[in-house]
This record gives sequence, structure tokens and C-alpha cells, in this order.
Amino acid sequence: MKNILGTELVELILRVLSGGIGILFLVLGLGFLILPEIVAITFFAEPARAVGINSLRGDFGALFLGMSFFCLLGVFSAHRWLLLVPIVFLALVITGRLTSFSVEGLPLVMARTLVSEVLFLSVLSLSLISHSKKSGSQSSPPVFKVLYSTRFLVVLGLVIIMVAGAFMSRRQIGMRLWDSIAASRISRQNVFGKLPDGLHVGLAGTGSPMPDAKRVGVCTFVIAGKHLFIIDSGPGSTLNLELMQVPLGNIQAVLLTHFHSDHIAGLGELMLKAWVNGVRTEPLKIIGPEGVDTVVHGFNQAFSLDAGYRFAHHGDAVAPLEGTGGFPETIEVLDENKGEVVFQTNDLNVTAFLVDHRPVEPAFGFRFDYKGRSVVISGDTLPCDSLRRQAEGVDLLLHEALQPEMLRVMNQAGATSGRDVVTNVSSDILTYHTFTEEAARIARDAKVRHLVLFHIIPPTPAAVFQSAFLGDSRKYYKGPITFGVDGMLFSLPPNSTKILKKWLL
Ligand SMILES: [Zn+2]
Ligand SMILES: [Zn+2]
Repeated sequence: MKNILGTELVELILRVLSGGIGILFLVLGLGFLILPEIVAITFFAEPARAVGINSLRGDFGALFLGMSFFCLLGVFSAHRWLLLVPIVFLALVITGRLTSFSVEGLPLVMARTLVSEVLFLSVLSLSLISHSKKSGSQSSPPVFKVLYSTRFLVVLGLVIIMVAGAFMSRRQIGMRLWDSIAASRISRQNVFGKLPDGLHVGLAGTGSPMPDAKRVGVCTFVIAGKHLFIIDSGPGSTLNLELMQVPLGNIQAVLLTHFHSDHIAGLGELMLKAWVNGVRTEPLKIIGPEGVDTVVHGFNQAFSLDAGYRFAHHGDAVAPLEGTGGFPETIEVLDENKGEVVFQTNDLNVTAFLVDHRPVEPAFGFRFDYKGRSVVISGDTLPCDSLRRQAEGVDLLLHEALQPEMLRVMNQAGATSGRDVVTNVSSDILTYHTFTEEAARIARDAKVRHLVLFHIIPPTPAAVFQSAFLGDSRKYYKGPITFGVDGMLFSLPPNSTKILKKWLL
């Protein structure tokens, strides 16, 4: 074995293979840098929310590019010992994977990845050994002497003992951590305590009826000074509101744009949580177009048994029965130009206006004005004049957006696979929503300061599709366009032109 490893041919073969591994790492590193979400799929590493992309680019990109750099430098120079760097990293990656396997079990797909990594580690190690055999022991670099020194082995032994100790006591460590996390979570401030006076708009749900791994059903919250409004209550959105620390007990009113399921399916849960979180003694006000009473009474009835259980369990101190459910308030928009004021104080004006979502009639959009700042929320609509008028000069326009070309590709795929119902539904969708580029034109015509797209159709699983989704939108509208994602918060300080963006998820 000693002799074979030391031959020219074997050394050359191992060197070429090591070079190949270096190039593979280079491709993966560049992939993580350029298309992080796509490459991450091959590693089953979905980014958690938008900020996770940052870690994919930074951490994964750096790991692979770093390994590639030292791999190729080792292969193409006389300093073959530089291969030690990717060898150490691969050994650590394999250790992490084995630890995970022992804790969470062994998924077959990751076992294949493990085998590749062991193979890479073996090739690089053999290449290193082969080179040192061929060159003779006198050329061994000082780094090997350090590796074999007693001091290094003692430190390595201590690290292994510490890691093993931590692994054995993971249950106690988990409980200790939970102690401190639970206390800080319970005492956490709600979002009100963190926000200065102003108009704040949060995206708790930016999806559509189509399943989207990154977006739940439509829901927006607006905080204007001390007032909190929820606009639409799509499926799953109440949990997002809670994760964003929106104090549901403080809701002034829920405003519904219309009664498609992607805008109301979360209403029962929202009313129930608002009741218990706020120890409400009167039902939650639900404002909407004609038909809102049918929706609210239906949810009230569906949740009445649960309300009874909670009262029986917790009593008046937590769940006073008189505060359960919601009470509907029907709004009729009489003036198509001005809309209808649904809430008013000295500083705040909330206006409902008609939009075109036929055959859903009537359907609303909403406008909020607070201390010189303004936002319009489109609801579901075709491009229409009333929305253009209401959006005139607003700071923020939240507009629904549909990308027709991407949807047509989906329709064709549905037709090819024989899923006719899916194809029919998604063809019909084209006739009562606003295309992305049309939303951009509306923002341009109305001289809007900032356009936020939401109610995204079709679902775009990765940020890399955003550019395709926008099409030529940036040609039509020169202001900033934000591709709405669950968890975003826009803050508009009073009497200013600033628009600040944050992530609460
Ligand atoms: Zn709709
Ligand atoms: Zn919708």
C-alpha cells in the first residue's frame, strides 16, 4: 500500500480527483452566492423567512468557497498540506451529520450525502498521504508536527470530552435553556411597546388561495397611534399575528375586503384569540360589505361550543361569555368617488372604497390617513379608477399582484398532466385580478411613494423568481417596489416622507 500510494500515477490520479472535488465545491459555493434558495434545496435547507437567505449566502457560500480555495491551492501548488483545511472541514461536517443521525434518526437521502462526504474526505486524505510518500518524509511541513504533538492531542481530547459531556447532558441543558427562554418570552413586549407614534403597516399574510410555503392567507395589520386594525383574516394568519407580537386583545376592528375564503378563513380563530387575549367583555367589531353578517354569524355559531368549553374551564377572569365572537357592521359605499369613512378621530381617517372583483360584489379596498401619512390596501381587484383615485399621492400602496405568464405556464403544466379542474380555476383567476405590470402602472399614475405587492399569484418559492414576477414593472414605475413577504413591517413616522422597513418574523 505504501509503495502504491507513493507512485507517480496514483499520486496524479488522486491529485486530479482532488482538483475535481475543489471545482465541485467552487460550483456549490458560487451557487450559494448567486442562487442561494435553489442550491439550498439540494441540501434540504430552506431559508426561514427572507433573512435566512442571508445565512445561506454568507455561511454556506463561505464554507464551500473556502474549502474550494484551499483544495485548489493544495492541488495546484507544491504545498499539498493545504488540503488539510478541506479535510478538517469535511471531518467536522461528517461529525455534525453523525451527531444529527444519532439524535434525529437516519433519513436515506442524507445518508447518500454522508457517503459522498466520506468519499471526498478519503480522496483528499489519500492525496495528501500519497504526496508526502512520494516526496519523502523530509518534506513534511511543520503543520504535521503540530498535529502529532502531545499538546495538540491533549486539547483535541478535551474538546471531544466536552462535546460528549454536553451530548450526554442534553436533556438537562435543554431544560435549563427553556427556563431562561420561557421567562423572556412571557415577559416580551408586544409590538406596540416597540413602535413610536406613526402609521405602521404589517404583512401577516401575503398569499392567495394557492398553497405557498412562505405565505399564509391574506392579512394585514395597521397601527395608527393607539389604534389597531386587522384587514382580512386569511387562513393561518392569526398565528402569524401572534408571532409578530400583535396584541390581539387591542384590536379596534377587523375590516374585511370581501368574503373569498383566502380573506376570511382565519376569522373564527382571530375572534377567539382576541376574546381570550384581551379578556374582552364585548364581541369584536367586524366591518365589511353587505354579507358580513352572514359570515360573522356563521363563525360565531361554529365557535360557540369552543367558547362554552373555555368559559367552563377558565371562567369570567379569562373568558367572559359576553365577549365571545364578533358583531358585524355592514358598510355601504354610497359615493363611488369619495368612498365611505368607517372610522374617524382627530388624527385618523379610515375609508372604504369600491373595487372591481366581479362577480364578487361589493368588494372593498381601504385607505388609512394618519398625521400626514397614508396607505391604501387594494383588496382583490382588477385595475379600477376608484382605486387609482384613492391611491393618489399615498405613501404606501399595498396592491395585489398576479403574474399572467407564470400562471399560464402553470396552466399548461396542469393541462398536460390532466388536472383540468386546477387548469380551469387558474385560468378564471386571470379575469379578476391585477397583473404585476398593471399594479406598477397604477402606482406610477397615482404618484405613489412606495409600491408593495402582496396576494402573490402564483406562489414563487424562491427570491430568484422575483425578477420574472415583476416583468417590466420597474420600467413603468420608478419608485421602490417591495415584493411582500409574511412578517414585513412598514413604519411611516408622522408628518415626514420616510418609509422604514423591518422584519418581525
Ligand atoms: Zn377574492
Ligand atoms: Zn384573494
